[in-house]
Amino acid sequence: MNEPEVKSFDQCPVCGSTKRFVEELAKETKEAELMDPRLNFHMQIISGAATQPQDLAKAPIGTKVLMYEVVLDVCSDCGCVYAVKLIRREAKKSTRLFGPGDLQKGGGVGIPFPGAQNPRNN
Ligand SMILES: [Zn+2]
Repeated sequence: MNEPEVKSFDQCPVCGSTKRFVEELAKETKEAELMDPRLNFHMQIISGAATQPQDLAKAPIGTKVLMYEVVLDVCSDCGCVYAVKLIRREAKKSTRLFGPGDLQKGGGVGIPFPGAQNPRNN
């Protein structure tokens, strides 16, 4: 399995601020010791595969599937919603079918999500 390709964006593309609304809430929550300090926490993670389930169903076991995760947050200064991280992964179709939580992760296509046990932990 190849390492995921990660592109990070450190500042708002509109105003250049580095303050992110949900990330700042998470910092305060960590300081109050109500959250694991190792977690990165952002507004939303959208993930999935660049293959439709019906096409994946026809593909043989071991077929390479391209997966994506887009981590979003909101600029605290101007309100722009933007991608904090773009993550590209390669996975292989396996015999594993749906598991607990797969649909919430945006998966549900019968392939494992490597490293996505906690989707907030990127
Ligand atoms: Zn901004």
